[in-house]
Amino acid sequence: MPELPDLVHVEEVLRGALAGKTISAARTGDPTVLRIMVREPFPALLVGRRLSTIERRGHFMRFGLDQGLVIVVNAMLAGRYKLIAAGAEAGKKKDPRALGLALVFEGAPELQYLDEKRMGKVYVARAEDERQIPVYGQLGLDLTSPAFTRAAFGAAIARRRDQVRAFLMDKRALASLGNAYADEVLFAAGIHPKTFCYKLDAAAVDALYAAIGRVLAEAIAEIRGRNEPPEVKVRDFLKVRGRDGRPCLVCGTTIRAVRVGDGDACFCPRCQPETRKLFVTWSKLPPSPGAKGVQK
Ligand SMILES: [Zn+2]
Repeated sequence: MPELPDLVHVEEVLRGALAGKTISAARTGDPTVLRIMVREPFPALLVGRRLSTIERRGHFMRFGLDQGLVIVVNAMLAGRYKLIAAGAEAGKKKDPRALGLALVFEGAPELQYLDEKRMGKVYVARAEDERQIPVYGQLGLDLTSPAFTRAAFGAAIARRRDQVRAFLMDKRALASLGNAYADEVLFAAGIHPKTFCYKLDAAAVDALYAAIGRVLAEAIAEIRGRNEPPEVKVRDFLKVRGRDGRPCLVCGTTIRAVRVGDGDACFCPRCQPETRKLFVTWSKLPPSPGAKGVQK
C-alpha cells in the first residue's frame, strides 16, 4: 500500500502534472471501487471540471474539483496512481478491471488509479459531505502537521490499553502509519511491537514520538530523491519491514516476523527486546526477599 512518505511524493508529482487542468473524460474498468455520493450521473459529472487542488490527508488523496466536488481515494493495500502520456493508450480496446478510475485531461497526462485487489475506495462527493467518508472523516493527528506535538501524541497514547503497534496503525489516532512504517518506527524507537501502550514510560513515549518524525522525514527525503514515477513503490531502504530472515543492519540478529493483531510485524529481537529496562521503573519495585547485588 502506498504509505504516507509514498503519498507525499505522489502528491507532489500529481500536483505538478495536473493542478489547474480540466477533465475532458473519465472512465472505469470496474466500478467495484467507486463510491458515488452524489446524484448526478457518473462519469458525466466529472467532465468539464477543473482539478484545482491535490492534497494528501493521512493515507487518503483528495482531489478538489471546481464547483465544490471532491474525489477522495483510499488506496488500501494495492492501489496505485499512474500518469499516462496523453494518447499513449489510444487504440487499446478495453480497460483492465484493475482500472478504478481514469481521468483524462486537456493538455496533460491521463491519471489512472489502478487497484489489482480492488480493496481501495474512490469516493466522489460534494465537499460539504466529505466528512461522511469512512475513516477519512475521523482521521487523527496528521503526522506531518504542526498539530503533531509531543503533548498531543502523549495525550493520544495515554488513553490506550492496546498494543503499541495497533495504536500506531489506528488511523483515528494517527494519520497515518501502515504496516511498513509502523515497523520502521518501532525499530527506530527500540520498542517491541507487542508492548502494551500503558507499559511505555515517558522516556519510551519520547523515543517513539521522535522516531515517528525521524523515520517519516528520512523516508520522504529518500523517496523524493529517487523521484520514481508515482506507481513505483520504493521500499528497498527500509531497515526491518520485509527483511524477516535477514540480519539486522544494526546488530546482525535475524529479523523476525510476528503476528500482532491482524497483521504481521517485522522486528529485531535484540534491538527491540520484549522487556527492557526502559519500561520498568525498578526503583519503585519492592526488593525481593534476600535480594543482593544489582538487579538487571
Ligand atoms: Zn538489531
